[in-house]
Amino acid sequence: MNICRQCKYYQKSTGSCGPLGTGKRVQLKGEKYKLCGCVMEVKTRIAASGCPVGFWGRDVPESSYAKAKDFVERTEGKRRFSRPEIDELVELSNEILKTNRKTTGCGPCLKQMRDEMKRALHVSL
Ligand code: SF4
Repeated sequence: MNICRQCKYYQKSTGSCGPLGTGKRVQLKGEKYKLCGCVMEVKTRIAASGCPVGFWGRDVPESSYAKAKDFVERTEGKRRFSRPEIDELVELSNEILKTNRKTTGCGPCLKQMRDEMKRALHVSL
């Protein structure tokens, strides 16, 4: 968060990376980037997130990030998870979202976990 506060693209009035919600295309040292428009106070707490310009990176190993992406793609539209999927989901979402949730059989809770992880992954895609 400290890096963002000092960044020229940080919008103090909204606390966002570029214009809130929409972001903005920018050019830096000949390279084109798309500012995300996210609220940085929230985004910087998500382990899987990263700066769209590359000023700071993900706090998650690339292998976990890839596994989480694979899990989200593999379970798209699924209403029920198998026992191994539940264990995988809890472990991955705890790592990506920096949470400490326990394994549960609660379907809506698992769906919420998956959706939150999916949103977190999309933030940095
Ligand atoms: S995410 Fe990167 S580009 Fe956006 S405000 Fe933070 S440091 Fe700046």
